Amino acid sequence: MTQCVKFEAMDKDVKQEDFQIIPPPYRIKVVELLSKEQMDIANNRERREEAIAKAGYNTFLLKEDQVYIDFLTDSGTGAMSDNQWAGMMLGDEAYAGSKNFYNLDKAVRGVYGYRYLVPTHQGRAAEHIMSELLIRPGDSVPNNMYFTTRRVHQELAGATWVDVSIDEAHDPESWHPFKGNVDLKKLQGLIKDVGRERIPYMSIESNVNMAGGQPFSMDNLSSLRQLCDEHKIPVMLDGTRLVENAYFIQRREAGYENKMVRQIVREICSYTDGITVSGKKDALVNIGGFLACNDKKLFLEAKAMVVVYEGLHTYGGLAGRDMEAMARGIYEMVQDRHVAARVNQVEYLGHLLLQAGVPIVVPVGGHAVFLDAKRFLPHIPQEHYPSQALSAALYVESGVRGMERGVVSSGRDPVTGLERKPKLELVRLAVPRRAYGCADMEFVAQAIIRLYKKRKRGCGLKMVYETERLRFFQARFKPIGGSLMER
Ligand SMILES: *Cc1c(COP(=O)(O)O)cnc(C)c1O
Repeated sequence: MTQCVKFEAMDKDVKQEDFQIIPPPYRIKVVELLSKEQMDIANNRERREEAIAKAGYNTFLLKEDQVYIDFLTDSGTGAMSDNQWAGMMLGDEAYAGSKNFYNLDKAVRGVYGYRYLVPTHQGRAAEHIMSELLIRPGDSVPNNMYFTTRRVHQELAGATWVDVSIDEAHDPESWHPFKGNVDLKKLQGLIKDVGRERIPYMSIESNVNMAGGQPFSMDNLSSLRQLCDEHKIPVMLDGTRLVENAYFIQRREAGYENKMVRQIVREICSYTDGITVSGKKDALVNIGGFLACNDKKLFLEAKAMVVVYEGLHTYGGLAGRDMEAMARGIYEMVQDRHVAARVNQVEYLGHLLLQAGVPIVVPVGGHAVFLDAKRFLPHIPQEHYPSQALSAALYVESGVRGMERGVVSSGRDPVTGLERKPKLELVRLAVPRRAYGCADMEFVAQAIIRLYKKRKRGCGLKMVYETERLRFFQARFKPIGGSLMER
């Protein structure tokens, strides 16, 4: 009951009726110039039509030279600070025991609070190691929705992925402020069905990407911890977008308004036993990741495995300079003003679209705005990949690159081979950190609004090529009935 009262009080904030811009805490002193090719693409619709046809209507297969504004992903695409670049010059490239490893170790222990660190070249490498070590074939792993690479590694290790997210997470129109929450009843049901010993760990993602960049609440996490303690199930965090989750807790959850993001991050981690992280998001680097945990046995096993797949345990597939940049990025990422300005920029884009009546996932996510393709193109059935078609149409309209997050990303069920039909059929527009300004948000919003006005003319796609796993990266399509979206 107290929860409901809390939610009502937060409603206005979540809906952002009076939008306020928060300027970022930096000045720009170096810029990346766009190429002549990119400017041609920006100015010439025929060139874009040609490019997307060549790319099989898959925005992943476009060359960067063919993209004007790139909202494909916020992964590794952010701008590093002068402080991080300075750190790159201090790379200690010793094979063993690099200084930069110890700086990273200190940053992870200091900011996240875990005892042991195993660096990896990316987040998925950490997921691979964790899944291999903890999962036995036939296990079930509960998750609050899924992340593509996390689920694939769970399944490769022999587990069944089980969704225990709250129902609201699957409803793009629900204003629930914590759509990343775990439905404890669903988890209890799973424990009852398969037994505690078939659940190697509870996998919880911060600021759930597939739900639209949606946070869990501290209240939910602490209850989850309690339930898992009762059944002796470890809680493993995918903390790739942890600071955005912490910021939403600061803004939306009673009792956290005066806590710093850094304190909230620490508190979240304190409820978990370990973490896998892609440093390419929160930690403001172009490459890097890690696994960290408190259990010494798991740490020793992970350390033994990282040398097989990644490199020595003091570099894990990274150069010394990469570890230094990540260590410095970890301190920068938890600064309140940085997170506030970052999320605010995403919310500004969402706000412009909402005002124009464009269907997007609400509340606006922390790292991306998600167009709701089911409501945008209701005449295109899911079998004709409406999100894929919409992302291609947006590119043709504007040179803006987004990403499909629907039936294509969901892939096929490993047992039946049938396509998984997710409730959410979305186009993600992920905003790279510290790389774009307000004018870019306005340009993107205007292009989407133009597209929305002629939406009835959009057509679907058929898939002509796919890979067995993570097919969204390389799948190819053809428009059904000629052209994608008439002018
Ligand atoms: C990006 C990401 C990963 C995988 O990390 P990579 O560095 O791309 O391998 C895992 N989980 C989440 C939530 C992510 O966003």
